[in-house]
Amino acid sequence: MKIARTLTELQAATKTMGDTAFVPTMGALHSGHLSLLAAAKAGGRPVVASIFVNPAQFGPNEDYNRYPRDEAGDLAQLEASGCDLVWLPDVPTMYPAHTATTIHVSGPATRWEGAARPTHFAGVATVVAKLFGQIRPAAAYFGEKDWQQVQVISRMVEDLLLPVKIVPVPIARDADGLALSSRNRFLLPPERAAAPALYAALTKAAKHIAAGKEVAATLHNARHDLAVAGMVPDYVALVHAHSLEPLAALAQPARLIAAAKLGHVRLLDNVPVA
Ligand code: AMP
Repeated sequence: MKIARTLTELQAATKTMGDTAFVPTMGALHSGHLSLLAAAKAGGRPVVASIFVNPAQFGPNEDYNRYPRDEAGDLAQLEASGCDLVWLPDVPTMYPAHTATTIHVSGPATRWEGAARPTHFAGVATVVAKLFGQIRPAAAYFGEKDWQQVQVISRMVEDLLLPVKIVPVPIARDADGLALSSRNRFLLPPERAAAPALYAALTKAAKHIAAGKEVAATLHNARHDLAVAGMVPDYVALVHAHSLEPLAALAQPARLIAAAKLGHVRLLDNVPVA
């Protein structure tokens, strides 16, 4: 596995690789990230992963400085998963001084995470566009764990005519249903025990909506379930799967999405509604 820390090293490493599959991450890797690596690997192209904790996607009062970092552990996991090249840029490489250009996002970026974290998706889109320009992958793999993010990136690629195929990868979960996340390590033991209630509430609500129960009442009950489990729900919403616009009644393609605070950790999850 090659490691590139400068643009010169990256260019030298990618020169002879041909079409690549790209997996962008912020590190602190877990089996969810590794499922993206496995999907990329299964596509048959050489795999490039990046690790970059992107300051632009954190708000001023968010956890940029406390975000978990474990470069040695990450590199060992990437090597074991058959990754061919790891790109480890530093902040000045990604954000040269006097930057005047960023990506502006609207549409699917507007609501939900976009409302809770107003600069988040512009930061994500900007760094992903830069990474695409540096690596120029044929395909890029994103986790459905961040459902709205996949829609925002897909829309950016469509709108800016970027020559890359976006491949969504299903959510990897712990045995009790909790969606894997780098931030789960910050859950205290009783919080970790309560955390699967998010997935449980979403699966229950999805079943009820699919069976024809009223959407508003079902979402209300799901928020109640989360509160009973000790969470502070931010949103539980039935949305159009791609535009992220709310749906008052079930119409396909639909997705049930939620965010809730548990202790100091913000949990995200989503499920299909069959
Ligand atoms: P992050 O390092 O949190 O920025 O995540 C990097 C990529 O891994 C993103 O595309 C995430 O959606 C994806 N990812 C994170 N957790 C999971 C999970 N539990 N299942 C699938 N993909 C995930």
